[in-house]
Amino acid sequence: MRSITTLDIQYAHRFYKFQGEAQYLHGHTGVLTIEVEDSINPGVNMVFPCNEIQKIAWDVLKNFDHALVLREDDPLLPAILGVYEKQGIKNGAPANKMKGPAFKTELATAYPECRLVVTKETMTVEGMIKIVYDLLKDKLNIVKLTFSSGVNAATQEYAPGKTIDRCPLCGVTMVDGVCPKCGYKKH
Ligand SMILES: [Zn+2]
Ligand SMILES: [Zn+2]
Repeated sequence: MRSITTLDIQYAHRFYKFQGEAQYLHGHTGVLTIEVEDSINPGVNMVFPCNEIQKIAWDVLKNFDHALVLREDDPLLPAILGVYEKQGIKNGAPANKMKGPAFKTELATAYPECRLVVTKETMTVEGMIKIVYDLLKDKLNIVKLTFSSGVNAATQEYAPGKTIDRCPLCGVTMVDGVCPKCGYKKH
């Protein structure tokens, strides 16, 4: 069976060199739907707690929220960093609290201190799905990702992976036979 959860991401981006309005800087509320598949964990009678899927995803994806997403070759990148530098917010600001861990994958690099994500490819809805899968595939048994942003939407399905060993009391992923949330130990 599947557990399904949705989260909103507000971001600014543009499609550098795209022949259309989207080549201008603009913003969206993107909606990401994550579907995970596994056996039903008999202890809690769920596949995976949806609020925990959200927490795991948000921990890293909050880097995209209220962030600017630009392709690595976009000339806006040095221009904006120059402004942030002059203003003294490039390396952080007291109001910038919603920072996830800095990450670097083949497709994207997050700079949480200045709410910037630099991507290898244009961040279309398709591009976002590739980035998100890469970031979360080892943490969740993702079988489907859907991302919509304005009139654009894309979806991708993935083959179900291994089963995850989950706590029978609270449903979260066990770490070395111990539940990191409630301390339950496997006998
Ligand atoms: Zn857009
Ligand atoms: Zn537990």
